[in-house]
Amino acid sequence: MRIARVETFQVQWQPADTPAQRSAFVRVWADDGRVGLGEASPMQGGRASLDIIAQNIAPALLGADPLDHAVLQDRLMHRLVKLGPEGALTGALAAIDIALWDLKGQLLGQPIHKLLGGAWRTALPFYASIGGNGAERSLDEVLRIVEARLADKPAAIKIRFDNDRVDLDSEIPDHIAKARAVRRLVGDDFPLAFDANNGYSYSGAMRVGRALEELGYWWFEEPVQHYHPRALGELARKLSITVSAGEQDYTLASVADLIDAGVRMVQPDIVKMGGITGLMRCAALCQAHGVELVPHQTQPTVGHLANLHFAATLLHATKPCELNDPSPRMHAIFRNPPKPIDGLFHLPTAPGLGLEIDAAALARHRVDHGG
Ligand code: CA
Repeated sequence: MRIARVETFQVQWQPADTPAQRSAFVRVWADDGRVGLGEASPMQGGRASLDIIAQNIAPALLGADPLDHAVLQDRLMHRLVKLGPEGALTGALAAIDIALWDLKGQLLGQPIHKLLGGAWRTALPFYASIGGNGAERSLDEVLRIVEARLADKPAAIKIRFDNDRVDLDSEIPDHIAKARAVRRLVGDDFPLAFDANNGYSYSGAMRVGRALEELGYWWFEEPVQHYHPRALGELARKLSITVSAGEQDYTLASVADLIDAGVRMVQPDIVKMGGITGLMRCAALCQAHGVELVPHQTQPTVGHLANLHFAATLLHATKPCELNDPSPRMHAIFRNPPKPIDGLFHLPTAPGLGLEIDAAALARHRVDHGG
């Protein structure tokens, strides 16, 4: 079995989408006509990752055995490392890895979670991840949106404050007031998380963290800049609330740095860091250190399903999977997009990822990433 073709493209979900708002997909074809589907990190539409695949990765994959996906990933990571191992390159390698796992599942007639050694659970709870709760939204609007998301029966809710990373601490009273109001709305026992998106200084993060502790929040995500692992670790050690980070880490080594610093819940993302192969390695690292692995994942189709297959295999899955705000990305181009039923996502049993493309819908939404 050989890799015969690698196809990269964006998906434009709505006519008004700019190139930076599109999704970045890859298809890898075997020489018998079977095909695997992968997704890269969607930052700026994932175009940089798609270009790296088209220019630098695809030529090296043609003629290779798709079952050699881990060797291929490590070889390409080291060959291309000077493109920058933090971001576009790892997004590209993640997309290829997911596509090769999807293809492998089809070649072997098994869903990915079976190929990973089996699932501890086949129905997975999720948390509703709600973005944009800063100054752009009133307190009442935040409450209305949280109320609306409760209808999906999430196991928890995370409110995100998508801060300007160059204007730290400026909205702290507003953030604490909203965190308090959401706690009042959902009651004392409902699990809540708070995502600062790197919006605070160290001292600002201490202030918010203490407030969240009083309000009984479950975790406090990315309180300071992601490139300050020691500050993240120090906060994790000093606060009693769980401090989490890692969605902006792209290598196993940088996740190890977070753990060394003191972070005890890490959140690498399957479309940013090594795909399924990368997260399996991360699972071993976390298991060895007794660290919670709670992957970040905001892409509702390919990335989400790849993440579900992986998360189902985790021995200690202490937190639900992430489900982002409703979006037009959720339902186009697939006949069977993942949807929760009574608060649970059920793992597909079909080979590979288990996603069926609607070819006519894909043709309508597909665009070349060069344009
Ligand atoms: Ca986050």
